[in-house]
Amino acid sequence: HLNLAPLIPEESHQLSRGLQAMMGKGTERLPSLDQPAVAPLRKRGQDASSVAIQHGASSSGPGSLDELNEQYCTCQRCPLGASRTNFVFGVGHPQAALLFIGEGPGADEDRLGEPFVGRAGKLLTNMIQSIGIDRPEVYIANIVKCRPPGNRNPHSEEIAKCFPILRRQIELVQPRLLVTLGNVPTRVLLPNAPGITTSRGQLYSFQKWRVLPTFHPAYLLRNPSAMALAWDDFKKIRHLCFE
Ligand code: URA
Repeated sequence: HLNLAPLIPEESHQLSRGLQAMMGKGTERLPSLDQPAVAPLRKRGQDASSVAIQHGASSSGPGSLDELNEQYCTCQRCPLGASRTNFVFGVGHPQAALLFIGEGPGADEDRLGEPFVGRAGKLLTNMIQSIGIDRPEVYIANIVKCRPPGNRNPHSEEIAKCFPILRRQIELVQPRLLVTLGNVPTRVLLPNAPGITTSRGQLYSFQKWRVLPTFHPAYLLRNPSAMALAWDDFKKIRHLCFE
């Protein structure tokens, strides 16, 4: 299922075999997560924007993702606006059950205007496919929408200025689960969570949403031995969202 060959040449064979072994033949029982029952998945075509925000500090703002993008795509509220090539709003199904949150655009994303289209993005796409979901079925966004120069971490003022966009994206999409990729988005949504090596695979909440942190795919490219843990997380994601 996971084709890592173009991404991790040396370990790919062994790894993808290991992951496939863990995956079984589609009949494997996933671990019970002891979570409260969740509402059934929204049907396609149901208007997410008509679903009232039930609790938590909801924001008001544009009533559709397109309007939200239009409102911010020329944003100059922080210095990243001056150095970007493209504003990278987010991509995916507007009523996705699953919303991935990365850190910020890299060089490829800045050039193409879409999140996770570089090497790490290809790995993320493969991992999503490995749990039986096509990338266009999920929603993918970042904490900051413009590339921090030299791929540095976004500064807290940049995050503060940009976060209302992500918060509104979450409110509009109304996903069943948020998956934070790596330390930066995890700490933004869950300031009290421990580091990613401890928080990964655990369920937390941000306002009314459930959050499951996992490793950032760029970290997995550098540390392929962590892939098995990430695979455990993705099995949980499948269980929480689609079973
Ligand atoms: N890393 C991220 O966190 N986001 C992207 O969009 C690409 C790489």
